[in-house]
Amino acid sequence: MAQQRPSFPVKLTPTASAVTRGREPAVPARPAVSSTPSMASEAIRARMVQKLAQQGIADGRVLRAMGTVERHRFVDSALVNQAYEDTSLPIGLGQTISKPNVVARMIELLLGAPALAGKPQERLGRVLEIGTGCGYQAAVLSHVASEVYSIERLRGLHERARSNLRPFRLANVHLMLADGRLGYARGAPYAGIIAAAGGEDLPQEWIEQLAVGGRIVAPTVSANGGQTLVVIDKNARGIERRVLEAVHFVPLKSGIA
Ligand code: SAH
Repeated sequence: MAQQRPSFPVKLTPTASAVTRGREPAVPARPAVSSTPSMASEAIRARMVQKLAQQGIADGRVLRAMGTVERHRFVDSALVNQAYEDTSLPIGLGQTISKPNVVARMIELLLGAPALAGKPQERLGRVLEIGTGCGYQAAVLSHVASEVYSIERLRGLHERARSNLRPFRLANVHLMLADGRLGYARGAPYAGIIAAAGGEDLPQEWIEQLAVGGRIVAPTVSANGGQTLVVIDKNARGIERRVLEAVHFVPLKSGIA
């Protein structure tokens, strides 16, 4: 069956992402976040959300957040027509934004943290994200958590995320240029920690910075050299670790560049 392409006229003409990249605008940017393209893209996002639900994403908080964040504003203008397809996309510097399905799945897992058990409407507390990339997942997280601390090690992407996120004015998202392997002690303890890059092991710092009742969701290199999704819960009894499905993420690297 031929895949129907979104036909909304999203042309990322001088919105904040282009105009303000690398410098502050003279006038605070107030781009057309709620202009016609956004309204047209709403229907396409609704279709994406419907598909996510069919694929098994059941948490209303996640589906609402995925339906709210304009994914097309985070990808290169040449890729805008693919923004709502279930595919990962390049975001520059050799990195990729995960498929919507993977983003939704990981956030749904994060919301399953022990502290939120039996509270299907509640927001998570403070969340640490490792690997800001283009800022898309941070924007989704901002709708399900009280505060989002997001770390990126590549200056170019950190700055791109900053300009991508600026028009949305998400006061609860805090971007940091740093090595996320060390976590971010100043925001700890975290109700949730989510990584968008996979390392050999889970850094001890993440486990230390996790609140009791909190959960880590992260890809980790498995014995056969592939990656699997690992969920770690911290509760009064200690640490519980579960290994879930195979995944494909970019590698978790050290230092900033
Ligand atoms: N959540 C992102 C996905 C980004 S891809 C989005 O929505 O776009 C993963 C990112 O992790 C890459 O940008 C990569 O540079 C970053 N990364 C890898 N190792 C890191 C580290 N040690 N600290 C911080 N970021 C890291």
